[in-house]
Amino acid sequence: MEKTHPILELAKNRGFLWPAYELYGQVAGFYDYGPHGAALKRRIEDAFRRLYLAEGYLEVENPIVAPEEVFIASGHAGHFTDPMAECPKCGTAYRLDHLLKENPEAARAQKCPQCKGSLTETRPFNLMMATHIGPSKRPGYLRPETAQGIYITFKRLYRLGREKLPLGAFQLGTSFRNEISPRQGLLRLREFHMAEAEVFVHPDEKEEHPRFAEVEGVPLRLVDAQDREKTMTSAEAVSTRTLLHQTLAYHMARVQQLLLHLGIPQERLRFRQHRKDELAHYALDCWDAEVQTKAYGWVEVVGIADRGDYDLTRHSKQSGEPAGVFIPYPEPQTRKVRTIRVDKKAIGQQLGSRAAEAIRALSALPPEKLRGPTIQVQAGGQTCTIDPKHITIEEKEQKVTGETITPHVIEPSYGLDRILYSLLELNHREEQVEEEPRAVIGLPPHMAPVQAAVFPLLGNHPGLAARARELHRTLRQAGLRAEYDDSGAIGRRYRRQDEIGTPYCITIDHQSLEDGTATIRERDSMKQERTPTREIPGYIQQRTAPPPF
Ligand code: AMP
Repeated sequence: MEKTHPILELAKNRGFLWPAYELYGQVAGFYDYGPHGAALKRRIEDAFRRLYLAEGYLEVENPIVAPEEVFIASGHAGHFTDPMAECPKCGTAYRLDHLLKENPEAARAQKCPQCKGSLTETRPFNLMMATHIGPSKRPGYLRPETAQGIYITFKRLYRLGREKLPLGAFQLGTSFRNEISPRQGLLRLREFHMAEAEVFVHPDEKEEHPRFAEVEGVPLRLVDAQDREKTMTSAEAVSTRTLLHQTLAYHMARVQQLLLHLGIPQERLRFRQHRKDELAHYALDCWDAEVQTKAYGWVEVVGIADRGDYDLTRHSKQSGEPAGVFIPYPEPQTRKVRTIRVDKKAIGQQLGSRAAEAIRALSALPPEKLRGPTIQVQAGGQTCTIDPKHITIEEKEQKVTGETITPHVIEPSYGLDRILYSLLELNHREEQVEEEPRAVIGLPPHMAPVQAAVFPLLGNHPGLAARARELHRTLRQAGLRAEYDDSGAIGRRYRRQDEIGTPYCITIDHQSLEDGTATIRERDSMKQERTPTREIPGYIQQRTAPPPF
């Protein structure tokens, strides 16, 4: 039986999230966000957006459906697979690496753990969801990550960004992975939410990040590819080469800053480096930000990778569009440029049909190989010996104004559903208050889905209700998410708000009608203070505003 946390039950009953398509028996890997879940997700997205806008990055939105070529180029069409074995008897499909971990005996014996039927041979199962575009049925896929759209439009973004590196772009949106047997609630979905930043950098400028001073003292808990754990500052991590360069360290520190801002406890956060056997073949280095959940242990919530020039180069090869950008030098430089002139007539007479290939091979030879008594090249499958007198090497000085390079990509890739789950689980606490149990989601006030709740002390008292409704309306007009609750005892109403993490509850009582004040009760301390009602919208706004990055 899979271990779950009571938070999933609470989240379902309190309007955060629940399995989708319940009416039709559910479809594994799809979840609905109810109003509080949608609000919490929006707050995560807003924080991500604020952080990367503050970095000066460009926000884009690309289509979810893309033609097949995109994923041939990216490698997803060929390699984005998990190993699968099926049971023909009961129809269950297994992801073999998971089965090996959870039930090694069954995996090795190739037996279905449910019905003991014989499993099929293991085969790679592509995780992309396929579709057809238009009546011509052009093959396409639902994107398995948001990043590809940014790589494809890099040149446009580069022009918009005044042709300067580093250039950052980011995107929030849904992605799709046809997971073989999705479980673990929000952790493994078939449709999920991502927020990805793609930072294009000059390959020679990764070593130093212009804003590194801002993060150099930030401690990072690192578990390297050899499973060695150490906590060190970003600066130490770079100087000891634990982290490849300042740009990677900078982005990891920013990821940490955002996760802490959202309400992930510091002691439950670490970065784990991909082992050699996990590292994607194109990635130069990759670290996962992992959160230690109570139900599932350490869970990857963000991947931060140095992807080198893989993505731009692959799309260039597939589309035929050059990947490089021209970077002017601050000052033009004088360079010695070597040109090789070949006596084509003489070589043509000597080599006949192999001459053209031999000339191409000659042009590619390094200078030292052109200076010997004889020169040898391969042409037409044979070694051809060429007399140096047919070759003239000229060296000229030339003014060079810049160079063409293919940028490298540093990518922090966030999974929002996993972050949202972690926030709910790790901020959920149960305690006893005056011998009564109290469940609280102690999210930071700026993350709470509902910022304030308004109660008339007595629900059926017209004067109190009218005043409470008026305050409720004023709060909503001020842009706050506020609830109104007039049912049951005040203590019950507080508990209901505690369960969804509302930081402030306001009660309108008889004194409110006399002097225009109301009590504001704070969620964690449960302390109450009396405040003039006209000041309450400002009071709540100020205390629930997100702190700046
Ligand atoms: P990846 O591109 O595989 O590194 O994924 C980036 C992030 O997306 C991960 O860190 C996860 O947080 C999230 N993620 C990946 N696959 C899933 C999934 N099937 N369901 C939910 N989140 C996912």
